[in-house]
Amino acid sequence: MRDFSQDPHWLSINTATIRKSEGKELPLPDIIEACVGRGIRAISPWRDQVAAAGLATISKLVKAHGLELSGYCRGGMFPAGTPEGLQAAHDDNRRAVDEARELNARCLVLVVGGGGKDIALARTQVRDGIAKLLEHSRSVGMPLAIEPLHPMYAADRACVNTMEHALDLCDELDPSKSGALGVACDVYHVWWDPKLQAQIARAGRERLLAFHVCDWLVPTTDLLLDRGMMGDGVIEIRRIRGWVEDAGFAGYSEVEIFSENNWWRREHGDVLDTCIQRHHTFV
Ligand code: ZN
Repeated sequence: MRDFSQDPHWLSINTATIRKSEGKELPLPDIIEACVGRGIRAISPWRDQVAAAGLATISKLVKAHGLELSGYCRGGMFPAGTPEGLQAAHDDNRRAVDEARELNARCLVLVVGGGGKDIALARTQVRDGIAKLLEHSRSVGMPLAIEPLHPMYAADRACVNTMEHALDLCDELDPSKSGALGVACDVYHVWWDPKLQAQIARAGRERLLAFHVCDWLVPTTDLLLDRGMMGDGVIEIRRIRGWVEDAGFAGYSEVEIFSENNWWRREHGDVLDTCIQRHHTFV
């Protein structure tokens, strides 16, 4: 297992982590500058942040600083109630793939969309949507990473809720393990799963495209915006990292924290310094 105790080399910052500084929106160019200034060499930006600054601007900045993208957030949201809705989701996902390609991201992360009142139908639409998107993403060489979300989001954000389910989809749609389709393993969503270790081993190097870290606070006060800093909660992050590395993953540990009432209220430089320190001590 790699030793992170001194070395920040494999730290990536998901840019949602410092989307706000002291409660105010922080533009992506400022986020990039703050990361680069601390020697952080990888990020994972969100589409809305890229759009606000302009794709060409961000692409130039990323190249100028030699930044890597551990992922691009995000595509997905496949289910819809009408054929037009399904088509609109597909069109938008194609654009997300193209943006990820322009930024040379390691993968496009997919949050697949919620189940609504017919979760079986939604899951079928997710499978079909990924299958259709794969035709495009393969053609431009952009891997898709299905991110299983904690079951508390099954209705509204993602009806794929376990690593096992995500990997079943991968095996169905990409049986040859071509590298075009895999999973994003986010400890926040999967730490509770009794099958986690076995499913990570099953995923293997070919399917493990991203590894996201933060912590599960007890108590958690908001289902979306109360993620903890590594070390402040109950997730055995280092143990899980050991499993993904045993399976062959050798990429970035991407810090992804949404924290309306704590970390987003702080000064973003302090938050980044804390991320670096906790990366050494708890990841
Ligand atoms: Zn994540």
